[in-house]
Amino acid sequence: MKLFNTLTRRKEEFIPLEEGKVKMYVCGPTVYNLIHIGNARPMIIFDTVRRYFEYKGYEVNYVSNFTDVDDKIIKKAIEEGVSAQEISTRYIEECKKDMAGMNVKPATTHPLATQEIDGMIDMIQTLIDKGYAYVVEDGTVYFRVKNFKEYGKLSHKNLDDLQSGFRALQVSGEDQKEDPMDFVLWKPKKEGEPYWTSPWCDGRPGWHIECSVMSKKYLGEEIDIHAGGEDLIFPHHENEIAQSECCNGKIFARYWMHNAFLNIDNRKMSKSLGNFRTVREISEQYDLQVLRFFMLNAHYRSPLNFSAELMESSKNALERIVEAASRLKDRKEAAAVKEADEKEKGLLNEAQGYVTKFEEAMEDDFNTADALAAVFELVKFANTNVSETSSAELAAGLLEILTRLCDVLGLTVEKKEDILDKEIEDLIEERQAARKAKDFKRADEIRDELLAKGIILKDTREGVKWKRA
Ligand code: AMP
Ligand code: ZN
Repeated sequence: MKLFNTLTRRKEEFIPLEEGKVKMYVCGPTVYNLIHIGNARPMIIFDTVRRYFEYKGYEVNYVSNFTDVDDKIIKKAIEEGVSAQEISTRYIEECKKDMAGMNVKPATTHPLATQEIDGMIDMIQTLIDKGYAYVVEDGTVYFRVKNFKEYGKLSHKNLDDLQSGFRALQVSGEDQKEDPMDFVLWKPKKEGEPYWTSPWCDGRPGWHIECSVMSKKYLGEEIDIHAGGEDLIFPHHENEIAQSECCNGKIFARYWMHNAFLNIDNRKMSKSLGNFRTVREISEQYDLQVLRFFMLNAHYRSPLNFSAELMESSKNALERIVEAASRLKDRKEAAAVKEADEKEKGLLNEAQGYVTKFEEAMEDDFNTADALAAVFELVKFANTNVSETSSAELAAGLLEILTRLCDVLGLTVEKKEDILDKEIEDLIEERQAARKAKDFKRADEIRDELLAKGIILKDTREGVKWKRA
């Protein structure tokens, strides 16, 4: 299997540290708002990478953090007059709902920065002890970049160029730094902000240290793959490498994977530019499988421009797959003949060719667009070769292949049952009756059953309200 490594700028054969296992860390979102579809791109892409490794029989330890302490979270908390924790807890919940809608599997571990402060203090102390970090008068701790000779190796930046660039950018108030390139590991608290006690001052960690620490704790000092959006290459990932490699004395991650941007009108979609669409908004118009299809129909290292037309064509294309699967299922159930004859056995054999094509595409740096093309060839093959006279074995065999390949991409081929408003109202009524009778088990069952069908219930003073997710 080959993947493009940002570190070497080459496609490389994937060789795991430990046979049959993949240790993978994906930088997660800062939780102060609903996630936008730009944030969804790395979630969908690296979930697909994970699924492919699992399909190939690897055991994947997949870690993805939530950054739950940050200036933006604090700002939002102040605006709403609530605690920072209330904001982050709320948006983690919402993010998990969006992930479920996009069929992104929960990570093996989703660590929270605020739960890992002790580990961060330990790592910072080690860096100070080894001469890679220093404390200034107000208690801020900085990383001493010039002591790490390999700084710049991921972003392919030259230390001298960086140094002059940073000098030109030097911000007032940071003059306690030894060098403009140095970055913050720990900073003193400000009035009204959450803080933790440390040997240097009451304060909070810098952003970069959290990923170095969480990766080490949940995956070990050396990992196979570290991933995220390409905006993280510099400085975030460069700084993570500096911290981890100086602390542990080992290569941090062997392969670095980065997705290109999701754009809108050819500009990066971002919260700060205000040109974003939330995953939630998209879910009001489309099944989130459509969004997943839209993302996978492009190569992850190519910029992708969001447009209504592309979403519509993704919807139609996905429907073709779902229709084909539904037809195969009907044929399988209605078939008069059970077993495949010689000709059909030949067809089933031929269909394996599409599996090979699919795998070849995925093994070439996860070319999901070509993998989808192989799925469509299979759809066409099934539509042409399966008819009323086909055996159950042929229909079932093709359906199994189609379902399996789509599952690797995280696409569900099952037709979603449309639940009618009347059925929802009836279930809600039954739930109310169950509650009255103190049968909370049944009441919860009904809520979960509705949630599985994409119906969200909200208990309000005026009674139960519901909406489609
Ligand atoms: P943030 O919450 O900004 O730290 O972003 C979380 C993840 O989303 C990171 O991996 C970012 O690189 C990624 N990301 C943010 N915006 C975009 C975008 N427009 N296109 C692709 N990835 C993005
Ligand atoms: Zn990170």
